[in-house]
Amino acid sequence: MSTAKNPSERRPKVWWSNAIFFLSIHFAAFYGIYRRPYWTVSTPSLLLALVIWQLSCFGITVGYHRLYSHRAFRATLPIRIVLAALGAMGFQGSIKWWCLRHRLHHRFTDDPVHDPYAASRGLFFSHMGWIFFKPKYEKLDEVDKDDLDNDPVVTFQHTYYVPIAIALGFVMPWLFGALWGDATGSFIWGGLVSRLAIWHCTFCVNSLAHWEGLQPYTDENTSRGNVILAILTCGEGNHNFHAFPHDFRSGPSKLDWDPSKWIIVALDKLGLAHELNRARDKDIQSALSWMKSKHHHDAQSSSSSSESSSGTSDEGEDSETTDELPLWTERELSEYVGEGKTRRCVLVINERVVDVSVYLNEHPGGPTLLRKYAYKPPGDSKDIGRNATWAFMGGMNKHSRAANRRLQEITVARMAEASQL
Ligand SMILES: [Zn+2]
Ligand SMILES: [Zn+2]
Repeated sequence: MSTAKNPSERRPKVWWSNAIFFLSIHFAAFYGIYRRPYWTVSTPSLLLALVIWQLSCFGITVGYHRLYSHRAFRATLPIRIVLAALGAMGFQGSIKWWCLRHRLHHRFTDDPVHDPYAASRGLFFSHMGWIFFKPKYEKLDEVDKDDLDNDPVVTFQHTYYVPIAIALGFVMPWLFGALWGDATGSFIWGGLVSRLAIWHCTFCVNSLAHWEGLQPYTDENTSRGNVILAILTCGEGNHNFHAFPHDFRSGPSKLDWDPSKWIIVALDKLGLAHELNRARDKDIQSALSWMKSKHHHDAQSSSSSSESSSGTSDEGEDSETTDELPLWTERELSEYVGEGKTRRCVLVINERVVDVSVYLNEHPGGPTLLRKYAYKPPGDSKDIGRNATWAFMGGMNKHSRAANRRLQEITVARMAEASQL
């Protein structure tokens, strides 16, 4: 749900420190290339730049994105420390800063107000324009962050982010270069030029991967799959997999270019990562076949009505399923929820009773969030004011078609009368 925009929201403050740093690095890198073109730089320095670029990229894709933003797998402490260090070397903010904005991006993809790098605001804005401003994201406080706050690696990296990033991003290449007598060349190429490569390749995921490419899984938002970007971004360019963010892969097919996925699998085999999440095959197949039938339908019909007619097939399934559900009173609902430790986690969304107990660990937003919106029987001491309908219908997330399908599957009843839940 896109709320009305007031003038102050449309004109956020310029983030001067960010803008000056960002532009200065660009200027310094280009001046460095002019003074020390690659043919004047030692081979070890050029290799170092390449390694820093790739390692930082993995810090962002495997660490910041899949591990921390989407909890797509779990990792041992040493791996979390390494990923936090590599991500900091990429100079894209702390894990906490990055993840909260990325979670907003997934919840409100393309929304010009709530998506920090909304593609709907143009290619330049989604690529790097957003970096220059300091908007107040009104939904940011509602994004779940308990997992981040409870991870000592995240809190330590957040507190000491600037010295860690400077040490690894600028000082370390210079020191390495000194070892082989080319400190300046290493600093220019490993510290500055590789920085631009890391930044712009990552930013392309927000810009080009929402602009050009294929949409095999969904067309509900602008995310697209693009193999060239996948190569440049350690696999993140298969971006149309947006609807399954809790999956540790950016594409389920063996043909998807996704080195980040391969690294996570290798870590799992070595016992350094575990609990790798995969979207259910059934859900992926259903997303693929929905898009195939839509393309087929669109190809058959040249009129614009094709879209609305293909869009209604899902809604038809919805109403059919709903009609078959039993009608419950609030008493029946309370009995179903139960008490104590065996209490079920149940949401009431649009008068439909949804038992999310089996879905808690699958939910991309995490189990804590679902529990906050769970139905509490009358007399429960805890707060009962959270409105799951509002949250599901766009207040907290623009849920995807895949999420709606899953919701139907775990809906157990309908409320007999309009309630205040
Ligand atoms: Zn995206
Ligand atoms: Zn993501």
